[in-house]
Amino acid sequence: MKEGVLLTGGAGYIGSHTRKALRKAGYRVVVLDDLSEGHREAVGDADLVVGDAGSREALDPILAGGGVKAVIHFAGRCYVGESVRRPRRYYRENLVGSLALLAAMVDAGVEAIIFSSSCAVYGDPGGEDLDEERLPAPVNPYGRTKAAVEWAIRDHARAYGLRYVILRYFNAAGADPEGELGEDHDPETHLVPLVIREAREGKGELRVFGTDYPTPDGTCIRDYVHVSDLADAHVRAVRHLLEGGANETLNLGTGTGHSVRSVIRAVAERAGRPVRYREAPRRPGDPP
Ligand code: UDP
Repeated sequence: MKEGVLLTGGAGYIGSHTRKALRKAGYRVVVLDDLSEGHREAVGDADLVVGDAGSREALDPILAGGGVKAVIHFAGRCYVGESVRRPRRYYRENLVGSLALLAAMVDAGVEAIIFSSSCAVYGDPGGEDLDEERLPAPVNPYGRTKAAVEWAIRDHARAYGLRYVILRYFNAAGADPEGELGEDHDPETHLVPLVIREAREGKGELRVFGTDYPTPDGTCIRDYVHVSDLADAHVRAVRHLLEGGANETLNLGTGTGHSVRSVIRAVAERAGRPVRYREAPRRPGDPP
């Protein structure tokens, strides 16, 4: 078997799809997850440690002994709207928790980190391309915690020799094509599963948050990328770092944006029935 990889938050949506891809590629996988949002069943045949990814008590025993050669850091809170209401939680869990992980890695001599960052670090680009050279200018607490961790990783790399791939995800969507895994949040707040639910159940609960944005149809535009493509990118990032590759900060998206209305239209076409929705006010923190 290949090297050991620790996945913090590996029982969650992107983490579980990545766990599957890493196992297929022959890596040994340890998942550290407090199961606050993740699911035990999503860990599959990887080792599971139930614990807080921001605590040295949980991290140190896993990193001791030299079996783990790389860490993929998924653990964290990921809701823009909630981050506006509860910034304390976001700074504590996303930023302070990540600092504990970086310290534990430095102390244990584990060099390679792959970090789940977000296109939310870019903020509101006003229609310009979001290339990686662009200076982060996040517009909500969620994006600000991600940008802060990115800077911390680069500073730790410079001072302590950590090596990193920072992956800025655009909007993860979809499910494992073999049907073993999927998106399972409770409550679900993400657009794609909510639109599909409305198409299936027709309860009339779908809301479109904001129809007065400066976009062609007035609704927000996002780049929706398939979760299995994200998983594949993580496997490549692990391989890259373990083969001695350079530090990288990379966008992970398709390069094409879709508005909220066009997502609803696409699901309705595929489902063969109309999908009802209500126009609702903007959701705080959402960039256009
Ligand atoms: N959205 C919406 N109704 C919903 C959920 C989301 O209109 O019930 C919009 C949201 O305002 C954003 C886009 O869909 O513009 C994607 O939101 P999501 O929460 O899926 O991902 P985010 O971009 O916040 O990471």
